[in-house]
Amino acid sequence: MSDQFKGIEPMVYQSKINVPYSWWAGDTATRFFVALRDEKRITATQCGACRKVFLPPRKVCPSCFTENTNWVNISDEGTLISFSVARRQLAAIPHDRKIPVIWGLIKLDGADTAMLHYLDEVKPEEVVIGMRVKAVFSETRKGNIRDISHFQPVK
Ligand SMILES: [Zn+2]
Repeated sequence: MSDQFKGIEPMVYQSKINVPYSWWAGDTATRFFVALRDEKRITATQCGACRKVFLPPRKVCPSCFTENTNWVNISDEGTLISFSVARRQLAAIPHDRKIPVIWGLIKLDGADTAMLHYLDEVKPEEVVIGMRVKAVFSETRKGNIRDISHFQPVK
């Protein structure tokens, strides 16, 4: 700091900026979201070389570096691999979600990878790794990952 500013406190203003943007989801994600929105169908890509099934779908197999051109239907039921509980409102949590929020890493039957999503209709203290869960689709679907509202325990 130069001498001319000595003794002067810096001024700090609190403000917010709004930055609207849009982005293209790409071929692979678009196909995945359209199947969710229009048919409540969960789809994944499969590597033609190692046969691994990716959910969320991946365009290229990260092991073989081959393009995944095979699409397969995946069950809406699976196994909880891991989870985390947020007990206070965070910027990443939509305001229509009740606190506490439970995020689950869910491996659906037929997939070799897990996807992250909300776990609901269960108390945090009742959540157990390995529990069976099922997708609950949103009433109004818009072609994004929230077309799956959340996962709930299989009853
Ligand atoms: Zn592969």
